[in-house]
Amino acid sequence: MADVSRFIAAGVRARSAYHVVAGEPAIKLDAMESPYRLPMELRDRWLHALRDLALNRYPSPEQYERVKARLARDAGLAPHIGVVLGNGSDEILQNILLALASNVTVVAPTPTFVMYEQIAAILGRRFVGIPLKEDFALDVPALQDALARHAPALLFLAYPNNPTGTLYPMDAVRALLDVDDAAVVIDEAYYPFAQASLMGAVEDRPRLLVVRTLSKQGLAGLRFGWLAADRAWTDELEKVRLPYNVGVVTATSVEFALDYADVFADQAARIRAERGRLYEALRAQVTVWPSEANFLLFRPPVPADAGRIHARLKDAGILIKNLAAAGGALAGCLRVTVGTPAENEAFLAALARAL
Ligand SMILES: *Cc1c(COP(=O)(O)O)cnc(C)c1O
Repeated sequence: MADVSRFIAAGVRARSAYHVVAGEPAIKLDAMESPYRLPMELRDRWLHALRDLALNRYPSPEQYERVKARLARDAGLAPHIGVVLGNGSDEILQNILLALASNVTVVAPTPTFVMYEQIAAILGRRFVGIPLKEDFALDVPALQDALARHAPALLFLAYPNNPTGTLYPMDAVRALLDVDDAAVVIDEAYYPFAQASLMGAVEDRPRLLVVRTLSKQGLAGLRFGWLAADRAWTDELEKVRLPYNVGVVTATSVEFALDYADVFADQAARIRAERGRLYEALRAQVTVWPSEANFLLFRPPVPADAGRIHARLKDAGILIKNLAAAGGALAGCLRVTVGTPAENEAFLAALARAL
């Protein structure tokens, strides 16, 4: 293999690529995907909506504006709040970090979504993780101290947090929003399962950016996310966004999906109900943390068994996430996405056998 090290930035060389497990397990509960597909009658209507798309043309500005206006209207955004569209919310996060000055520091309570640190490292931005408390609660004084000490440009808060499922108390979040200077990105990837949001607060908080995605609510394959913030932010982020980053198939599918928001809301309600059942069943066997997302973090009675349990489940055709590699507070932890009732039953039975 050629030696490319002198061409590649140190921050890139130091990282590994985001790992996606290959193969199609019988029961896939590792990546916070929805277990529910589009209902059959909607699939035909969706195909019909796609049929006459001009694939020979670039996406039109009119379509982008239509999608943005629709998202803004549905979210009740004021006119001075802008929207930016992304190829997944990961791309939005990347564009935010790209737009920042190159020598800034960004902060997040950890453990959290790995892409904040990954993207920061790739782009050469300094990332400082501030540990959550032992029960994964937000350590507000520690964060306020970090904000004062590192003077970060940005604070990332996953609300609820991944991989812990924790929904930080609103008053703690508001206390951080009020800290001078740092901009705050509230990542609401799990909004449909938490039903709590800071979206309403963007209107009178010029340093607040709220990010959402359709991935966790049944459209992970589409790759679509969006951001809402004061237009001063979105005007700058529009310069960073690559032209045509959201393709016509995705944009049209998003418009279609927004027309059937009730279908997705119904699926999310079923997942929330199942989450409650799964939590109670897990609680009898393992340490499990309360979650306001579509997954549960748990630790077996013998934490050192986590790797073996993960492998046993995989042999049984059930894929969950092993967080061993994350280490620290997540040592011995596993994460399971809430599936259909039948999938959850199969998971619980296999887990009982593995324990
Ligand atoms: C899954 C996830 C995302 C990324 O979602 P995409 O829109 O699929 O890129 C962003 N933030 C958090 C906290 C997530 O868990």
